Amino acid sequence: MITKTKIPLLKDHHSHPFLSALLSDCIDLKEAQTKEEALSRMREGNKDKINIILGWSNHRYLFEEQDLDQLPPIIICNTSFHCFLINRATKEKLGNSHQAILTNINDEKWVEQNLPNILKFIGSLKPFRPQQLKTFFRYLLQQGVWFAEEMLLPFEWVIPLFREKGYFDRTRFWANMEMFHSLNQETQKEVYGIKVFTDGALGSKTAALKVPYSSGEKGVLVYSDEELHQLIDQVAGINKAIALHAIGDRAIAQIVTVLSKINDEQGGIPPTRIEHSLFISQHDAQKAKSLGITLSMQPNFSIDSTRFQDRLSECYYRQINPFRMLIDDIGFVPGEDLVFGSDGLPYGVQTALEMALFPPLPSQVLTLDEFVGGYCMPSQKNGFIEVTIDEEKRSVLTKVKFEARNPVF
Ligand SMILES: [Zn+2]
Repeated sequence: MITKTKIPLLKDHHSHPFLSALLSDCIDLKEAQTKEEALSRMREGNKDKINIILGWSNHRYLFEEQDLDQLPPIIICNTSFHCFLINRATKEKLGNSHQAILTNINDEKWVEQNLPNILKFIGSLKPFRPQQLKTFFRYLLQQGVWFAEEMLLPFEWVIPLFREKGYFDRTRFWANMEMFHSLNQETQKEVYGIKVFTDGALGSKTAALKVPYSSGEKGVLVYSDEELHQLIDQVAGINKAIALHAIGDRAIAQIVTVLSKINDEQGGIPPTRIEHSLFISQHDAQKAKSLGITLSMQPNFSIDSTRFQDRLSECYYRQINPFRMLIDDIGFVPGEDLVFGSDGLPYGVQTALEMALFPPLPSQVLTLDEFVGGYCMPSQKNGFIEVTIDEEKRSVLTKVKFEARNPVF
């Protein structure tokens, strides 16, 4: 059966528009299928500056130190942005600066504990042209995205920049606690909430799991229960919302336990989102629902059920993105306490909708109405997407239509 319909443009609840705009002209290894191809692409890097390299997936190939030491100065970012490789030429170029990062970049726990600062450091290596933001928002719109939440504010000047360029109404800013406290009072008001990383990611094998990865590791839990409790208390104290990054079941269980305790002690919790919630169990979903927590999830990540079979046991990869359990059994409602985004992997309606309607597993399927509820703008005022769904071929065709006269385009 073939269905044709129109849906509003997307509201991407988890994205990184500034970082994506800033890094949009970097060398990308996404298309490099072999290590040799990747090395030859990186050899083309500029010898006089530090080259940020994107799109490296360690399920395809690994790099040896000697492979990288023959290259121009590079910092390779794993696609997850939770693991980085820095070569000798970069270390020489940085000299005595950024010693903590250079010394600890291979220490998984340190990297997860210091992730916002590492991303800020990487961002500071690239000169930024305001035109890049405009180009990126134009790209987002062509991909069907109207609104993109900025999950990790890297620099104070980014907020006035968004305002000046006319994108302020198309985003919402989250910042980590350290960044928030460094802002002046007026700018603090513009920050919607505080972002906290409680574990790592699957791409770097640092998402905190109860049952270890096939290599024996269990991932990284960034905080002890007490530390997380204190941090959430601090967020409540400044009257902001909180977005807790948690991918593994161990991290999600910790969040739910700590928030239940806070709720018992204080009779409430700050407005809370769990970002990703990839391996949320039925038990923790029930508790999250009763605490009024919103789950902010990525239909795109359903593909991890096939992508990461190299590191996860079958019982684990079958648990990824359990949307049917969350909606049918627990009662989460898309658009109310279940919202969707891309994390930029990739941006846009095409992959998001295809992965929502036709994911690898039946437990991950969303209906079109659920997708629209949790992922779309409330109206078609700024544009719409023509959608053709082919049930038999399990494919989706999307065509984005927007008002070309729009001043920001
Ligand atoms: Zn993110």
